[in-house]
Amino acid sequence: MNVTGPHEDRVADWMSQKEIVECLACGSSSFMTQEVCALMVTGSRPSPTPGGGPAVPLLPVICIECGYAMTFHAGKLGLI
Ligand SMILES: [Zn+2]
Repeated sequence: MNVTGPHEDRVADWMSQKEIVECLACGSSSFMTQEVCALMVTGSRPSPTPGGGPAVPLLPVICIECGYAMTFHAGKLGLI
């Protein structure tokens, strides 16, 4: 498995431990990461405005071959 981008070593180790080694859509084992982003949530409805509700810190991991994107809680990866 190849992971490039921010936090690539930590993300590759974590994905290997969880046996997430292939893209669910195309079977590729090449991924890229982005910076941690936050999904804002207000109660049961999403909020488009920052500060509109509790934040869930997420790390996108994207398949380089097909673009399939997975997101993981950044805290579970030890990034926050
Ligand atoms: Zn893919």
